[in-house]
Amino acid sequence: MADDENLGFAIDTPQKGEAYRVLARKYRPQDFTGLIGQEALVRTLSNAFATGRIAHAFMLTGVRGVGKTTTARIIARALNCIGPDGKRTEPTIHPCGVCEPCIAIAESRHIDVLEMDAASRTGIDDIREIIDGVRYAPASARYKVYIIDEVHMLSKQAFNGLLKTLEEPPPHVKFIFATTEIRKVPVTVLSRCQRFDLRRIETPELVAHLKIIAGNEGVKIEDGALALVARAAEGSVRDSLSLLDQAIAHQEGETINAESVRGMLGLADRGRVLDLFEKVMGGKIAEALTDLSQLYDVGADPLVVMQDLLETTHFLTRLKVAPDAEGFFDGGSSEAKRSAEMASKLSVPSLTRAWQLLLKGLFEVRDSTHPLKAAEMALIRLAYAADLPPTDKLVRDVMDGASTPAPRGPAAPSSGGGARAVGSSSQAPMAQRAPEPTASVQNAPVLRSLEDIAALAIAKGAPVLKVHIENDMHLVSMEQGRIAFRPSLRAPSTLSGDLAQKLKEWTGIRWVVSVTREGGAPTIAEAKRGAHQAKLDAVLQEPMVRAVLDRFPGAEVIAVRDLIQDEIAAPVAEDESE
Ligand SMILES: [Zn+2]
Repeated sequence: MADDENLGFAIDTPQKGEAYRVLARKYRPQDFTGLIGQEALVRTLSNAFATGRIAHAFMLTGVRGVGKTTTARIIARALNCIGPDGKRTEPTIHPCGVCEPCIAIAESRHIDVLEMDAASRTGIDDIREIIDGVRYAPASARYKVYIIDEVHMLSKQAFNGLLKTLEEPPPHVKFIFATTEIRKVPVTVLSRCQRFDLRRIETPELVAHLKIIAGNEGVKIEDGALALVARAAEGSVRDSLSLLDQAIAHQEGETINAESVRGMLGLADRGRVLDLFEKVMGGKIAEALTDLSQLYDVGADPLVVMQDLLETTHFLTRLKVAPDAEGFFDGGSSEAKRSAEMASKLSVPSLTRAWQLLLKGLFEVRDSTHPLKAAEMALIRLAYAADLPPTDKLVRDVMDGASTPAPRGPAAPSSGGGARAVGSSSQAPMAQRAPEPTASVQNAPVLRSLEDIAALAIAKGAPVLKVHIENDMHLVSMEQGRIAFRPSLRAPSTLSGDLAQKLKEWTGIRWVVSVTREGGAPTIAEAKRGAHQAKLDAVLQEPMVRAVLDRFPGAEVIAVRDLIQDEIAAPVAEDESE
């Protein structure tokens, strides 16, 4: 295991009065060696620093969470580091991290390094403030550095004001811009910046990084669990670390396993999704429904199951047309092999029909107040449709004057006339009718609780946000368009902003998400754990359970399951004892 220095991040220890430091902050890169996956940027900057040809303005682009702000601060440090002895006179690609400027910049309190968020200050007046300040020499640093985040949000007027300064910047000034939407930045501004595209980190690279950190923290975690975390984080180191934080916080056994991470993310086991798909497509509806309810019992969201089934369908269809397609199932895994087998048995028309039915089912599940029931109905429909011959065959059969088989049962062409065939082929259009996604997307969902938002986050494919909503938000108040909450200790500082942005995107209306220091209800996760404990306590009070526990010393209740409606007639608490 490498020591701290070789990891590329100085490990911050908690400061006085700070009980816990989140991993994302603890392992925030302090210099370029800690910036994993951004080799191109590091190489170019190293060359520029070595030859003394440092640009006046930098433009950092990339999706949220790739580390734009962190990179900006590292560049600011590189420009202004004076070394441990305070004698360095030139910028360095290896900022020391211990001199006064390095420390002050890392803590965002250096007088000459000004950070501004263009999302909140978009006007010409804000820029004028900067332009006026540019004229004055730095107070103590080598360079005055302006870091402007989300620079694409600036007004046209503000950009014009900025442009004049960018055309003739004083030698003691550097600009570092960051943006998620590079296309909204005027070309005139872009052309005066050295541009760096920060890329998402590939899953294997992220897994390797998380492994080092888990080792460093003395945390045991399965590789499969790390892979799930990395995949959910979609290439963002910050997101992956905050998910790892959550996994550690809710760790139950000695090792964090894939199953618990899957539960945390609301994901279903992909192997079991493949089983489910196979059964549905094989018309084994009863078995398929059992599978679905088991997935549901272990915490898989019906909506996620539908999404996974769609992904499976897409993957199998791609396998048909390009046998070496990669995707939903990792290459070389047993699921990948089974997929190839299944793809060879299914026809493209039946796969495209499955896609359409599942897509329709997905919208129904999302909009239903009973997602599990809606998912069951969708699977039943698909299982029946899977039995139908593809439409092209039906049409051919009609043309040939052959009869079509009944929806269920083996295909047994009868000697019936063509007229009957036309009648029964009316089944086909039902399966063929494409769903209209735009129609259901248009009516914005009404969100009444954090649970609603968490469900929406899952529906929109944002598992990281879902985890934070469930674990890090102590709700103070909520109404349509307005949320106030107290963040937990582990909440990322970007949570309120991220949530506001996503809610606007998903609902089409503006949401004000504010943060308070006190109060708030227990988080969804806390409430769930509380309810579970209460249930467990209640069961332990049951005379029969107590009798069993007395009779078998060392036995304990490890699970309490609700009986489904039909079985309530005989209210017997079901428990599993060891
Ligand atoms: Zn330094």
